[in-house]
Amino acid sequence: MLKLIIVKGKLKLITALQLNDLPLSLSPINGNILRKKLKQLLFLEESHCKEGKLKLSDCEKPDCKLCRLFNRLPARVIFLPINLDKKSRMEFKYEGDRIIARISSGSLLKFTLYYKVFDEVDEENLLLLRDSFKLLEYDYLGSGGSRGAGKVRLCYWQERRIFL
Ligand SMILES: [Zn+2]
Repeated sequence: MLKLIIVKGKLKLITALQLNDLPLSLSPINGNILRKKLKQLLFLEESHCKEGKLKLSDCEKPDCKLCRLFNRLPARVIFLPINLDKKSRMEFKYEGDRIIARISSGSLLKFTLYYKVFDEVDEENLLLLRDSFKLLEYDYLGSGGSRGAGKVRLCYWQERRIFL
């Protein structure tokens, strides 16, 4: 590896974020929530499709940037657990045997990504990852997005480069 880029960012909740089926152990919030959503949005935007259907698994094209970013080893992006800033409010509700978490609007989700750069293509791909957050602003995180929940805005992005 040539370089490690540590990205620290903050997402502001414009509307409340609802997380369904949350295991109680998931506190802080698992970074996979963000990973899954960004991957899905980016693959859809770039028409990573097979027979007209969104294909999230590896397409096996050697130069596919998306698969390099999300599907191949060594993993380029590591999504660390998401933390809430101190002023954020999170409440839990039980519905049968499910736990639903609701984080109120105005809260800040603080995320950290480790981005590994092996060559120039990885360096370029960081922009792709950055762009996926723009897609997220027009979409939503968590559940209930079609009813307006989980609107976010990226309000902070900092990259720190470490040469290893
Ligand atoms: Zn691919």
